[in-house]
Amino acid sequence: MDTIIQLRNVSFAYETEEEKNLAVQGVDLDVRRGEFLAVVGHNGSGKSTLAKLFNAILLPTEGHVLVEGMDTSDEEKVYEIRRRVGMVFQNPDNQIVATIVEDDVAFGPENLGVPPAEIRARVDEALRAVGMYEYRLYEPHKLSGGQKQRVAVAGIIAMRTDCVIFDESTAMIDPKGRREVLETVRKLNRELGITVVFITHFMEEAALADRVVVMDSGTIAAEGTPAQIFADTALLQRTGLELPPAAQLARTLREHGVELPDETLTPEQCADALFRAAQKAGVV
Ligand code: ADP
Ligand code: MG
Repeated sequence: MDTIIQLRNVSFAYETEEEKNLAVQGVDLDVRRGEFLAVVGHNGSGKSTLAKLFNAILLPTEGHVLVEGMDTSDEEKVYEIRRRVGMVFQNPDNQIVATIVEDDVAFGPENLGVPPAEIRARVDEALRAVGMYEYRLYEPHKLSGGQKQRVAVAGIIAMRTDCVIFDESTAMIDPKGRREVLETVRKLNRELGITVVFITHFMEEAALADRVVVMDSGTIAAEGTPAQIFADTALLQRTGLELPPAAQLARTLREHGVELPDETLTPEQCADALFRAAQKAGVV
């Protein structure tokens, strides 16, 4: 199996004058090339710390993080590691540096010393990939939150990044913007093979991942497919997580005697299952 990010017995402690806060403890994790990995867990469970360990923003106080074989503690590799693993943060307003969309997307490749003609091609390609090409001459402050996050993603993939980490990048934007961002990310994952680590507190987003990791008190409490994770009621209770809304609806309908398969996690699966249940009942 091809692994893009490898964590081996990784711990990280924030040290303040009064105390030492062990935010990540003994984590072993492989992010597989090409996968869409969701990371969930209640506030303070260590998700953002984990994200920052992935691309050398933080260095482990114990253990090792390897990005495509490069140790994040190796100072000489940090630049290359950050080029290969990009990060989109929560606040869409803190990530845009230029006053015109296309200049913002060009910023990363310019810093890498990419020749101007190639920058032009990469910027256009990246803006098309996130569906923002027609906004290339806009001023970023005129864009919606979802559009700004898509521009931030374009800036990252213009650097030919292999993997993008999203740290609650949909938390501050409206539902429509969230859907746009999520659809864009899924498309980049499927069509360009970009590895995605998607940290979220929206369970409907985690339901669309290939694999879900559940963080709790700085450790990995569980990992599995969305179907496995959301079938584990005890785990959800223990780690303070809810079912995705479509799964909640399916559960309520089941309680009222509608026969729906266990794996009803997304609105599409729910609509599909309801249609089949209605057919079986002779209603349609
Ligand atoms: P999450 O992203 O899941 O909410 P974090 O990784 O932000 O979790 O935080 C994990 C733990 O580390 C929490 O107890 C939090 O209070 C603590 N923490 C986070 N950032 C800092 C910091 N800069 N200094 C000290 N403690 C921190
Ligand atoms: Mg966080």
